[in-house]
Amino acid sequence: MVARITTFAFEGIAANPVDVQVHMVGGKQPIFTIVGLPDKAVAESRERVRAAFSAIGLALPPKRITVNLAPADLPKEGSHYDLPIALGALAIMGILSPDALDGHAAIGELSLDGRIEATVGVLPAAMQALDMDLRLICPEICGPEAAWAGDGNLAAPNLLSLINHFCGRTPLSCPPPGELAAPTDPLDLRDVKGQDGAKRVLEIAAAGGHNLLFCGPPGSGKSMLAKRLPGLLPDLSAHELLEASQIQSVAGLLERGQLSRARPFRAPHHSASMAALVGGGIRARPGEISLAHHGVLFLDELPEFSGQVLDSLRQPLEDGEVTISRANRHVKYPARFQLIAAMNPCRCGGGAGEGQCRRGPRCAQQYQARLSGPFIDRIDLFYDTPAVTAVDLALPPPAEGSADVAVRVCAARQRQAERYADTISTAHRGLNVDATGPELESYAMPDASGQRLIADAAAKFKLSARSYHRVLKVARTIADLEACHQVRRVHIAEALSYRRRTWEETGTAQAGALAQ
Ligand SMILES: [Zn+2]
Repeated sequence: MVARITTFAFEGIAANPVDVQVHMVGGKQPIFTIVGLPDKAVAESRERVRAAFSAIGLALPPKRITVNLAPADLPKEGSHYDLPIALGALAIMGILSPDALDGHAAIGELSLDGRIEATVGVLPAAMQALDMDLRLICPEICGPEAAWAGDGNLAAPNLLSLINHFCGRTPLSCPPPGELAAPTDPLDLRDVKGQDGAKRVLEIAAAGGHNLLFCGPPGSGKSMLAKRLPGLLPDLSAHELLEASQIQSVAGLLERGQLSRARPFRAPHHSASMAALVGGGIRARPGEISLAHHGVLFLDELPEFSGQVLDSLRQPLEDGEVTISRANRHVKYPARFQLIAAMNPCRCGGGAGEGQCRRGPRCAQQYQARLSGPFIDRIDLFYDTPAVTAVDLALPPPAEGSADVAVRVCAARQRQAERYADTISTAHRGLNVDATGPELESYAMPDASGQRLIADAAAKFKLSARSYHRVLKVARTIADLEACHQVRRVHIAEALSYRRRTWEETGTAQAGALAQ
């Protein structure tokens, strides 16, 4: 006789169904084996199941027990196979009725005293179970997470409670969906004095989903501004919430199964390894760029990141997903994030006054040259944040806060969502930043005077086709913020002002300033 129950093997955020088959025959010696490509954590399941059984006064029969995890060619990793294996064993021992497990799936790790411990991936598992018309049995602490997928799941604190449930003594249920309360004291743009220009460009970035680079001396408020970007963005939609939370679930970051509607904001340190940033490692885990999916990735001190790491961001910035090669297979994680970066003008800071760089424009050129052209090409908005002066600090707090800006951002995004309603997909979020060439031709062609301006600029600055499109996208967003149907000359002019001045130009400007 064979007892079976479904569980899941995770590949990226996909939960692939695995059939756990428990088989028992009489034999001379008691043996407990697990087959079907288990890793070490799965193989150790035997010991945890044995101990958990003895904690509730049960003993595995002295027979030959074989657990098969099918399909056999799919690698099985992690400790969440404990619970389905234990349930299969209970059924084969006759403690649960033979058909009790029909229509169920299970994931959970067992502790030695029979408790069911939290495990990663409950949300994607619950969603896949729902698709397959199965009820998921999960750890009690993960119940609020499983409930997001749908009703009917079971959250169990320990093995004994499951036995009581299946014997009809104390039926289990699932708690309601858990939601993380919004912070009571969110970061606000009011905290930043002065820097009106930087706030304007932050608003444009928020409205159109554009990538942005702040360059300025230390203390000019670059990180303060960047950290306030999520506060300008609308909450995650229901679909985005589930997608972003599945990644956090697989990464084990959903505390007590609670989901948050706020946009993710990830700020990895510049010493972060490739695996930490893009994902992978010995046990495949989503990287920072995937944890920033549908949110913001903030890279402070941009040129300090290794060139190899930055170049590995190019493909996800285009495709919105990252592919990680493992031993003999590829794992994909979603990674559609908005990039905001900050840097000092040169290695020594480059500020005016006390911190001023004494090594002239060459220092800045060398520092800026650490960023590769193809990487820089993916940034739409460049802004030089001036040093904050004593006069700025003496100003009263600005009248306008994040909530006011967020209203305008929301209205501009609404206009974009209506415009791209027919083309919205995983590759196109309905934002100007994702607009295709033909879309730009239909929606972002400026008036005659604007066309002359962009043609002049294209000739003078030798704009590449990609840069030309970027200017149009940004101009379209600026027009959307003003509720303008037509992109005008003034919008093109502002968009051009956020283009990167070539490093040579910056160098010349600084050399000129030094000569005076
Ligand atoms: Zn310097």
